[in-house]
Amino acid sequence: MTTRRQLIRIFPTLPLLSAAGATALLAACGDKKPADVAAPAATPAPAPAPAPTAAAPAAPEVAPAAAPAAAATGPILDEKDAAAVGLGYVSDASKVDKAKYPQHAAGSMCSNCALYQGAAGSAQGACPLFAGKQVSAKGWCTAWAKKAA
Ligand code: SF4
Repeated sequence: MTTRRQLIRIFPTLPLLSAAGATALLAACGDKKPADVAAPAATPAPAPAPAPTAAAPAAPEVAPAAAPAAAATGPILDEKDAAAVGLGYVSDASKVDKAKYPQHAAGSMCSNCALYQGAAGSAQGACPLFAGKQVSAKGWCTAWAKKAA
């Protein structure tokens, strides 16, 4: 059986979990069912997580789930989005206001930008400057940087 103290060593953030989350985790790791685990109000306050030391395990024994790929998910970035306006984003690089953005080089667009995370040939993809949104492969903004060949 895994004790709460052992779990706190493995998961230093355990005390930050909600009572229900901690109870479910304890039940999942131990041999007790959730109903068998004492209610949080009846349990003693959790011991503070030990300060990291050289002797402490460097990493949790359980590897975190792999982060999702910067994925081709999320709504398409609206040109009127405040962040998009701030960076002069347009969904069609051929429509860049050349008077306003003289730095726009012909042919530069999201698909050939170093920050673009869409797959080759994709119509849209993620851009770290607009988290949770997708930019058009044909788009452009003032942060454009040439993708390495
Ligand atoms: Fe497109 Fe690059 Fe601007 Fe992102 S940083 S919106 S990929 S031009």
